[in-house]
Amino acid sequence: MFLSEPTMSTPVKRIYMDHAAGRPVDPRVVEAMLPYMKSSYGNPSSLHTFGQEAKHALEEARTRIAELINAEKKETIIFTSGATESNNMAIKGVAYRNKDRGTRIITSSIEHMSVVNTCKFLTTKGFESIFLPVDKYGFLNLESLETKLTDKTVLVTIVYANGEIGTIQPIREISKIVHSQNAYLHVDATAACGQVPIDVKNEGIDLLTISSNDMYGPKGVGALYIKEGIRLEPLLHGGGQERGLRSGTENVPGIVGFGKAAEIAEKEMPTESARLTKIRDRFIGGLLKPIPYSFLNGHPTKRLPDNVSVRYSFIEGESMLLSLDMTGVFASSGSACTAKTLEPSHVLLATGLKHEEAHGSLMFTLGRQTTEEDVDYAASLMPSIVKRLRAISPLTPKELSK
Ligand code: PMP
Repeated sequence: MFLSEPTMSTPVKRIYMDHAAGRPVDPRVVEAMLPYMKSSYGNPSSLHTFGQEAKHALEEARTRIAELINAEKKETIIFTSGATESNNMAIKGVAYRNKDRGTRIITSSIEHMSVVNTCKFLTTKGFESIFLPVDKYGFLNLESLETKLTDKTVLVTIVYANGEIGTIQPIREISKIVHSQNAYLHVDATAACGQVPIDVKNEGIDLLTISSNDMYGPKGVGALYIKEGIRLEPLLHGGGQERGLRSGTENVPGIVGFGKAAEIAEKEMPTESARLTKIRDRFIGGLLKPIPYSFLNGHPTKRLPDNVSVRYSFIEGESMLLSLDMTGVFASSGSACTAKTLEPSHVLLATGLKHEEAHGSLMFTLGRQTTEEDVDYAASLMPSIVKRLRAISPLTPKELSK
């Protein structure tokens, strides 16, 4: 729970429920990073002791991240500036490198924009990008994957769990289908990694995107797991760092923080995810039960422990968001990356919602500091907010607007 000094403009309570957009850095992570800004500031490529200290820290972090996802060895982890870069690196890197083998790329209709726009961009370079449908919960349609997958498909890229609706995909099943045609499987695990166990070997994942801030590490750091033996065309050319795949001096303090965040996530995941799942379900009940014409987005159980996405008919998410903001609860109406557009979320539309239904959505993402008391408080605000907004909405049926 967050409490701030009340002022004329700030409410007494400040409850942050937008963790998908940004998370606080764990104090243990900050502690681990500090020496690499203050005293061990060498360049990991330098041969002297300062450089080698930094190199050692970099490799320690690589090991922690490899362990978190059960990668075969630490060298399969390439550090990047975050999930967007990792997604670009995986998709363009595999596509360019394998163009002689095929030009088809398959993805889903509920991907993050860093995947959507990369796949669209590749259509201007001679590739064909196919966006597969999902069902009402957001699960990938596996039959359409089988139909569209040909021996000319070089890559299938699928989100592990969508950050907006929380639905967790059956990655093992998807992997079996993808490998039946010898295509590579890239999985964007940005929203999932650190919350649910991910095992690249057991789940048959060839490339995996992960991000530091989504595990309470610093922003601006991420990684791409690349299974041993898979070759990629690099996006950045220069000094040849990161096995020649990502030139540029590594962000040592950021990477050290990422490594510490991965270590903490691995240790604390079982208890923290169980705690959050309980709070999540209590919150969903509190948000939906007292209010008619209210619904859950995504699957009720196969969803991320931190994700609560609901919708209320006849009103708009943004209006609810602002009302909550005034009472000190900070939520979201969708992905932070598309928050500035007035278009409804492509993810919600892909699950079959009409524009007006998608517009009524509200997303809360919980975190390590979220308590039962916080979710009860946030839920208790909704009946009066919804009632007031419905009363002034032209879409509200007469019997509800009284
Ligand atoms: N993929 C997914 C599934 C996401 O939720 C996000 C946003 N956190 C990204 C990619 C992009 O992350 P970033 O903006 O940190 O690069």
